[in-house]
Amino acid sequence: MAARKPLIAGNWKMFGRQESLSEIKALWTLVESVSANVDALICPPSVYVSQALWGARGTGVVIGAQDCSAAAEDSARTGEVSAAMLADVGAKYVIVGHSERRAFHAETDEVVHRKAAAALAAGLTPIICVGETQAERTAGRVAEVVSAQVRASVPEGNSAVVVAYEPVWAIGGNSTPTIPEIAEVHALVRDTLKERFGDEANGIRILYGGSVGPKNAAEIFGAEGVDGALVGRASLKAADFAAIILGHPAAK
Ligand code: PEP
Repeated sequence: MAARKPLIAGNWKMFGRQESLSEIKALWTLVESVSANVDALICPPSVYVSQALWGARGTGVVIGAQDCSAAAEDSARTGEVSAAMLADVGAKYVIVGHSERRAFHAETDEVVHRKAAAALAAGLTPIICVGETQAERTAGRVAEVVSAQVRASVPEGNSAVVVAYEPVWAIGGNSTPTIPEIAEVHALVRDTLKERFGDEANGIRILYGGSVGPKNAAEIFGAEGVDGALVGRASLKAADFAAIILGHPAAK
């Protein structure tokens, strides 16, 4: 089994304007030298995906999207963007099941599963997000909740996925689980993926997400089983995002 190439993905959420797209080229100038060892991905709002792809031309920065429709076929879904459309313009990845979508749009594991399946059918790599709330952690239910989300959200039959472990309480704040806690959940996610994919699960990248920044990235990347990060706020500025990427041991 080839080593898993680390993936560091930036989720711009609903931030930025056209002028923000200049961050992509700026990022490339900072991380080009390590690009053979670490994949850098930016997921802008869908309205900017095409422009981001143009802006990333001539660079190795990969562009993805933050969500896609659960409908696999072209159909009457006003306001939605299909995985096939994202693939058509050149996106390579799509985030599905982010906790903000689960919370604000009531997306269930079943919907996330359909979105991930639609992404795979379109040739995109879904980044499937899972993670417990603070209440679930306090109740000692992390393993139960996360393994159930993985079982229900990850489609069968195709291991070309990325899973992001994002404790909901760590997103957009200042606290993260401890390094042993992160390693424990990553091992649990991989074991759960092995139930479905057997040894093929060893090829799946499992990212950590939640308050990753230039100061804590290197320590988090040192946690056993962490294959990169899904980064929100700190991905908006090239300098911060580059500092995270350059903090990965594979970039040394
Ligand atoms: C995220 O939204 O996926 C995320 C991890 O956000 P932040 O890095 O801002 O906590």
